[in-house]
Amino acid sequence: MGTIKDIVDLSTQLANSVQDRKVSAELYKIQSLTLQLQAEQSDLHDKNVQLREALLDLRDENRQLKNELTNRDEWKNKLASYDLVTTEGGATVYKSKGEPTHYICPSCVSKREAQILQDCRDDLGNYQCPNHDCQTKYPVKLIEDPPLPTVNRGVRDYDPLNYR
Ligand SMILES: [Zn+2]
Repeated sequence: MGTIKDIVDLSTQLANSVQDRKVSAELYKIQSLTLQLQAEQSDLHDKNVQLREALLDLRDENRQLKNELTNRDEWKNKLASYDLVTTEGGATVYKSKGEPTHYICPSCVSKREAQILQDCRDDLGNYQCPNHDCQTKYPVKLIEDPPLPTVNRGVRDYDPLNYR
């Protein structure tokens, strides 16, 4: 920028001091071209700044995408250590291939979380997802129907308010 200003100043000085009008006109033409050059250089400078910013944005985006890719691979590997199974209780959950055998919540798997289902120890064979926002219960274990109380002990003995 400084050089261009020097050229403009010099050509102005020369144009003012030269007597020959033709030479003077040529000098003004040089001055005009130099100013045009200055404007173009300024544009190029602005474009350069914009390109540099775009490059930084692209680098950020690239880094982010690489991280996402790594996370996706890690998750894929983790999920590969499970099989989607239907348990004897009828629940469809992910079961670990290795020991200790455990199940993870299929609902949370869709959110890329491995939540190990916990045995509720209830009468229904339920396991529950420990994730606070989920807490879905799955009938993992098969509970045999509890034996029905035998009623045919004789009609006389039957007391609906007091039978065991
Ligand atoms: Zn869950």
